[in-house]
Amino acid sequence: MSGQYVPSAETIVDLDALRHNVALLAERAQVPVMAVVKADGYGHGAEPIAKAALEAGAAWLGTTSAAEAVNLRNAGIEAPILAWLHPPGADLSVAAKAGVDLGVSNLDELRAAEGAAVHLKVDTGMNRNGCSPEEWPELVRAAKGYNVRAIWSHLASADEPGNPSVDRQVERFEWAYEVALAEGLRPMRHISNSAATLTRPDLAYDLVRLGIAMYGLNPVPQHEDLRPVMTFRSSVVSAKRTRAGEGVSYGHTWVAQQDTTLALVPVGYADGVPRGLSGKLEVFVAGHRRPVVGRVSMDQIVVDCGDDKVSVGDEVILFGPGDRGEPTAREWADNLGTIDYEIVTNMYRPRVRRRYLGTR
Ligand SMILES: *Cc1c(COP(=O)(O)O)cnc(C)c1O
Repeated sequence: MSGQYVPSAETIVDLDALRHNVALLAERAQVPVMAVVKADGYGHGAEPIAKAALEAGAAWLGTTSAAEAVNLRNAGIEAPILAWLHPPGADLSVAAKAGVDLGVSNLDELRAAEGAAVHLKVDTGMNRNGCSPEEWPELVRAAKGYNVRAIWSHLASADEPGNPSVDRQVERFEWAYEVALAEGLRPMRHISNSAATLTRPDLAYDLVRLGIAMYGLNPVPQHEDLRPVMTFRSSVVSAKRTRAGEGVSYGHTWVAQQDTTLALVPVGYADGVPRGLSGKLEVFVAGHRRPVVGRVSMDQIVVDCGDDKVSVGDEVILFGPGDRGEPTAREWADNLGTIDYEIVTNMYRPRVRRRYLGTR
């Protein structure tokens, strides 16, 4: 044991689950799949996720920044990669030399993307990045000497099936394509994210960009056979009997109503357990769901185990796929008024070890 480092908590990233999801979604899409691994693979680790997604049939990778894309190249990944958001004045030549395709929303970016294959992005109604319809004809004309691989856009409300904004955006997208054709370009097209891939197969065009669903989290209300990829676990470091009337943690916001066993777990808000979940959190320990009581601290939470037998070293699951009855990232998100994207993406934490299952 000497010198062995034991992490206080880990995220377990199940690459077999990821491969299952990618294969299922690729089958559904019927067109090539771009695995979106921005933000360190939504908190799962960009490089291992990228490699596993490619093994499972993804053809492309997507990142936000060119730097993220170049990191993947440096890790030996040769698949096509698209990077689409560039700080003003960014030197994109390193990415271009590394064969990274660049998303381009305006003339400055087009000039900076010299030497790279470009994907011209049209803003069809998200009103975030992308070229406005007013400026689109000029951008397309200016791009004529470039290697224009695609035109693309992003949907604002694909996760609400039937939302009329989707068709409005598609109409503008079709118009943008006509403009490109009229200028002699023959680009690919892509607009679908996970939600659109699941609910609007007619919008797959030449490529779908998959993020959240690939990580096993379902963005739409309908049932899908997706397997959540991330489990967040820790273990009991102490278990002690406490008397009725005793308060727990800062401010004693919780007071024991009867004698009970309190288990201490060495994770807190520094490790990705939101303090905003104080009083609303349950964990899975010794075969049961049990409430976390009192405030979430920086490094510790306390679990009320009642009269259950709990021992030092018992596994504590904070969230996971949910098949054993443990909480899920979605449950945390619902309790916090956010989305599960934010929960898993927040799990890149220096004190939390990542461990991969299904590595090849
Ligand atoms: C993040 C992102 C995606 C993936 O979205 P999901 O909802 O996670 O599938 C696709 N395209 C763009 C431009 C993105 O920024």
